[in-house]
Amino acid sequence: MGKIRVLDDQIANQIAAGEVVERPASVVKELIENSIDAGSTKIDIHIEEGGLSLIQVRDNGEGMDEEDVEKAFFRHATSKLKRGNDLFRIKTLGFRGEALPSIAAVSRLTVKTSPGHDGKGIELQLHGGSIINKQEIAYTKGTEITVRDLFYNTPARLKYMKSLQTELGHITDFVNRLSLAYPMISFTLTHNGRLILRTTGDSELRHVIGAIYGTSLAKNMISFSNESPDFKVSGLLSKPEFTRANKNHISIFVNGRYIKHYALTQAIIDGYKTLLMVHRYPITVLNIELDPSLIDVNVHPAKLEVRFSKEQELLKFVEFTVYQALYKESFIREPLKTKQDKPTIQKSIQENFDFSYSKQKQRENLTVNEKKLISTFFNLEDYLATPNQMSMEDEAHREQTNNKNEQSQPKEDTSLEPSNRLPLLEPLAQFMGTYIIAQNDDGLFLIDQHAAHERINYEKNLRLMNEEKKASQELLVPITFDFTPSEIEELIRQKDYFNEHGINLELFGKKTILIRSIPLWIPKGQEKIFLEKLIQMVLDKGVIDFYVLRQEMVATLSCKTSIKANQYLTKTEMEQLIEQLRNTENPFSCPHGRPIIIHFSNYEIEKMFKRVI
Ligand code: ADP
Ligand code: MG
Repeated sequence: MGKIRVLDDQIANQIAAGEVVERPASVVKELIENSIDAGSTKIDIHIEEGGLSLIQVRDNGEGMDEEDVEKAFFRHATSKLKRGNDLFRIKTLGFRGEALPSIAAVSRLTVKTSPGHDGKGIELQLHGGSIINKQEIAYTKGTEITVRDLFYNTPARLKYMKSLQTELGHITDFVNRLSLAYPMISFTLTHNGRLILRTTGDSELRHVIGAIYGTSLAKNMISFSNESPDFKVSGLLSKPEFTRANKNHISIFVNGRYIKHYALTQAIIDGYKTLLMVHRYPITVLNIELDPSLIDVNVHPAKLEVRFSKEQELLKFVEFTVYQALYKESFIREPLKTKQDKPTIQKSIQENFDFSYSKQKQRENLTVNEKKLISTFFNLEDYLATPNQMSMEDEAHREQTNNKNEQSQPKEDTSLEPSNRLPLLEPLAQFMGTYIIAQNDDGLFLIDQHAAHERINYEKNLRLMNEEKKASQELLVPITFDFTPSEIEELIRQKDYFNEHGINLELFGKKTILIRSIPLWIPKGQEKIFLEKLIQMVLDKGVIDFYVLRQEMVATLSCKTSIKANQYLTKTEMEQLIEQLRNTENPFSCPHGRPIIIHFSNYEIEKMFKRVI
């Protein structure tokens, strides 16, 4: 007699539920995704007690007829995959046909649904996955699924639920993300009768941001979009002054599916370059559209992870697009933001320094700076030849200008030309020994001399750090460190590696290392601290981790290495400081994120004196 028997559906569904239905938020996610797949334009979600006593999702989608509604609860029953091949070109959020039977297996579930032909619908009730009642009801087009007493028959799972607040937090998070992914759908979310989120469904992503994060952030988001032959990306980026302490507010959607993707998240952060403070992260929405055959979504039961077949290209493209969008902006702060009618002068600064990436400009007027910016990421010629960005007639025109482009195209490109996003400024005086007062035709500017100097030093050190051949300097007095015999052995073994990085180290006695020269990028006065960190990294990991050192540099760059507040500057020194600041990549904020420059427009000043209304 064989011992193996095929599990009955009930147990199979409960096992599947273990994977698909991890917590109340997973139910919310699956139900909303079904509503989206059904073409709904309005989705209302009601939650009670963190979702453990009730989850109800009502939509106005295509609904189900009597035959389908029962089938929907069979395992692996789906209307979304017709042929095996479809699995490799998934266009819907669902496709596994697992959610409904899994949810039903661990709850008391009621579904009301109608395709909306005759005002009639079906109501089906299931307990622990078994149908206990089915009846015809009056119902308009759409579906409502109510899930009560989740995990009532799987006490082990119930025990693992966190506080109601935690569960509600997960639910809210999902609903927020889905509403960001679908600004064309109106969502409402209530918990114990209290409204938590309402979006209008007017297709404006900025309005969804407003509903979730408030209007002030919504107004301070920068929109972007870009296309390559393989990808289309678009979305919103928060200005660098609007950040959070974690990466949770970076939302990434691929063909309308919310995903978690470490490398893409990092690509967005990298696109901000030095605009962000250390340990601060932006609020962003990134929508990626690509041919479904270029991704594998069938990696994870909850479909939160996907694999891209052209991942490296995508990462580069996203980083570049983010950088380009931010690089166009001027982040000079205005003193008062009481009224919405922005002074026209702010615009004119932007216009002067705007990079217009219109086709016309791409072809004819790319400045050396713009070319450098583009070729940091791409082969310039390939980029310009991208078919999506160039029409047939453009092509002909390009033939003529091609030679010109080739001549001036930088071949090796390592660092950017200064951005010169600050206009020319004439220093007038110093205020409180701390702020430089400057002017130009557009108004008055206050510059924090200390913050400005910090920014200049930081970028200089960063440039030196990133140089391939690390320049070094001799120390007048060598620095010594003591180590254990095995550490000494390892350090001597790595002598050449240290040398490549500008560190000349010698054995001095039995347990002491003597350092005679150090890399130029190490901030003045911080030599010992940095060397100690760096040597420890080599001992621990075998390599120098420059990312960590960069963070360290921001943290330790302080008054010690920069011009202090309350320090007298001559007019020439002020001029030099402003010129150096104009030559930085980000002249708007110091490495810690504090503003460097504030602009009082002529308009605002004249308004204060009632010369204009
Ligand atoms: P999947 O979404 O992977 O197809 P589900 O178990 O989530 O699997 O749903 C099974 C089927 O039930 C779907 O394929 C769809 O045909 C139908 N269905 C589920 N929810 C809805 C809804 N809100 N509106 C219309 N049809 C639905
Ligand atoms: Mg589904």
